Amino acid sequence: RSICYSFSTIFDKIIKRQIPAKIIYEDKHCLAFEDINPKAKIHVLVIPKEHLDRLSNATEQHINLLGNLMYAVNRVGRQLQLEGYRVVINDGQKGGQTVFHLHAHILSGENLPGFE
Ligand code: 5GP
Repeated sequence: RSICYSFSTIFDKIIKRQIPAKIIYEDKHCLAFEDINPKAKIHVLVIPKEHLDRLSNATEQHINLLGNLMYAVNRVGRQLQLEGYRVVINDGQKGGQTVFHLHAHILSGENLPGFE
């Protein structure tokens, strides 16, 4: 089974400003931009600048990356003054992942349904 850590994706191009995106937040480790095909009134993607293809391939080496990603979610929520939001990470094809550069979806701006 091949584990692809360094595959270049469309998100790498957004990081390098090679393709446009509505960037709303950036820090040393992460970048956040609007999803091109929003599934909620507010739909932001938060990505680590360092490449990791999917959550399930994270190792101990990625603990800081994962912490920085979650903290960037917090910063985006505050910057946009969100009253509440949902954070989603799709892992792998069977988890609905289509872009193989780890990203957290922030969904907000309306009452989101529960899981009942
Ligand atoms: P996934 O299904 O992998 O969890 O989510 C990928 C997300 O990236 C999708 O919601 C999709 O709309 C978004 N997306 C795909 N290509 C682009 C792009 O070029 N620019 C932006 N801003 N979002 C993209």
